[in-house]
Amino acid sequence: MKYRHLGKAGIQVSELSFGSWVTFHNQAGIDSTVEMMSAAYDAGVNFFDNAEVYAAGKSEEIMGAALKKLGWHRGSYLISTKLFWGLHEGPNQQNTLNRKYLIEAMDGSLRRLDTDYVDLLFCHRADSTTPIEETVWAMHNIIERGKALYWGTSEWEASDIVSAIEIAERHHLHKPIVEQPIYNMFEQHRLGADYTAVYEGHEYGSTTWSPLASGLLTGKYQDGIPADSRGALEEVSFLKEQLTATDSLAKVAALKPLADEMGATLAQFSLAWCLQNPRVSTVLTGASRVEQVHENMRSLEFVDKFSPDVLSEIERIFG
Ligand code: NDP
Repeated sequence: MKYRHLGKAGIQVSELSFGSWVTFHNQAGIDSTVEMMSAAYDAGVNFFDNAEVYAAGKSEEIMGAALKKLGWHRGSYLISTKLFWGLHEGPNQQNTLNRKYLIEAMDGSLRRLDTDYVDLLFCHRADSTTPIEETVWAMHNIIERGKALYWGTSEWEASDIVSAIEIAERHHLHKPIVEQPIYNMFEQHRLGADYTAVYEGHEYGSTTWSPLASGLLTGKYQDGIPADSRGALEEVSFLKEQLTATDSLAKVAALKPLADEMGATLAQFSLAWCLQNPRVSTVLTGASRVEQVHENMRSLEFVDKFSPDVLSEIERIFG
């Protein structure tokens, strides 16, 4: 495993990291979670991602319990959570980055994770109804209280990220250091040209998500939805359409010979491709069972194997 700096921050993250969306609680209980986190950690993963909203808080509880069982030295790994959607109905508690919500939700996440602090705290989405300045101050105060060490954004427009950085600079507050954008062969815009000021100008880091487009890029949906796959889960039924779109399946089929030629599985090929981009600090992987973790970790063997011809063929397929 290699490690990359999270942007210009002093902290380093493993090139592959491990997240809990959909899987923890819905597909993996505590034993399976311990097994998967352990396999990732043994392969060198030092960053484990979570969010308040995942399985309505249950995902944080499972990760907290798993970490307790695993008993790793706290300095050897980073954990994150993300706030925005909220767990409670009513004004001020949902789809927001207001100060009251952030301060209270942080405490809820720490309780569920059974820890004193998270290493990274993300604003899970932007909130156009709360002034960015209010959010920046709240994140700064959370860090000053020792409840998070660094903070970042997820799926924010470049202009909002730059605004947050500039506000923090103006008031000498803790700046956001990292974005969590979607990034895979189908979805490349969040690391694209619009973000040059963010990644080059401000040397922002990135922890990229859904590298396999929820499993589509493994090739498992070529003949329909397997019963034991994410595509079959009621909890995320909104994904079904994109997992079975004919034009997407044709693109995955066109990738297969390239992966075969490299000696990689489609999953390994697709994960390794993400790491070609120097704007990526770490690729957040997901898995519903330990065999997938083992397979995915081996994608590192292929990172250096992309010739210019293969890269331009991928560009041709995905446009
Ligand atoms: P992927 O796109 O890699 O999808 C992971 C899923 O694909 C697995 O759960 C599994 O689903 C399937 N899969 C993985 N590896 C294999 C394999 N080798 N062979 C066959 N199937 C495989 O990543 P995620 O969408 O899970 O995202 C990764 C992480 O990113 C999340 O856990 C979360 O931490 C973060 N994230 C952040 C978001 C944000 O808004 N900031 C949004 C979404 C994710 P199955 O076996 O059930 O088919």
